[in-house]
Amino acid sequence: MNIILLGAPGAGKGTQALRIEENYRIKHISTGDIFRHHMRQQTDIGNLARSYIKKGQLVPDEVTLKIVEIALEDAGKINFMLDGFPRNINQAKALDGLVAIDKVINIDVDLKVLTDRICGRRNCMECGYTAHVSTLSDGVCPKCGGEMYQRVDDQEDTVRSRLEVYTAQTAPLIEYYEAQGKLASVNGMGAPDEVFAEIRKVLG
Ligand code: AMP
Repeated sequence: MNIILLGAPGAGKGTQALRIEENYRIKHISTGDIFRHHMRQQTDIGNLARSYIKKGQLVPDEVTLKIVEIALEDAGKINFMLDGFPRNINQAKALDGLVAIDKVINIDVDLKVLTDRICGRRNCMECGYTAHVSTLSDGVCPKCGGEMYQRVDDQEDTVRSRLEVYTAQTAPLIEYYEAQGKLASVNGMGAPDEVFAEIRKVLG
């Protein structure tokens, strides 16, 4: 099964992706994670991506499409879950020319709660686990003991532009995939386990 996870920044795509990966044999492909990896390694792609990511803007399509094509090849173009891609109609059309998508899961949240969720978000360096800062007693990952850090683009100013980009460029994908008959929306306002229970109903 080839899946796309759609949803605004902070909707819980990464959190649910980890659960889906654990419970179904599906390879998780996160363009954000790939860019962050390149940034840490200071590759040309990473240095270019950083200048956009820091401002809350999208990395240009030609660069993003290149990393997605490589990731899809690595996954054998089968049994994968795209998280954070596509983010605009142009990327979605390009993806249609590359692989067949079976289902698009849209994690639906009230945009008003997102600024707090994202600004308080901390991520584990080691395993990618995500938690709100209010639930952490120290800077250590409750899952693996790795170091928790705040992403460069999780500060308030950047979050504002990310949400604007989402509304203008990414939200139209909901209609795009609805028209293809592939869209399933789940309520993303509940606790992670509740959201995952809804996703299970969709994936079977
Ligand atoms: P994410 O981890 O999915 O929130 O992505 C973090 C940042 O990486 C985004 O705000 C964008 O700057 C960049 N990015 C991730 N995926 C894409 C994409 N599909 N197209 C363009 N930029 C992307």
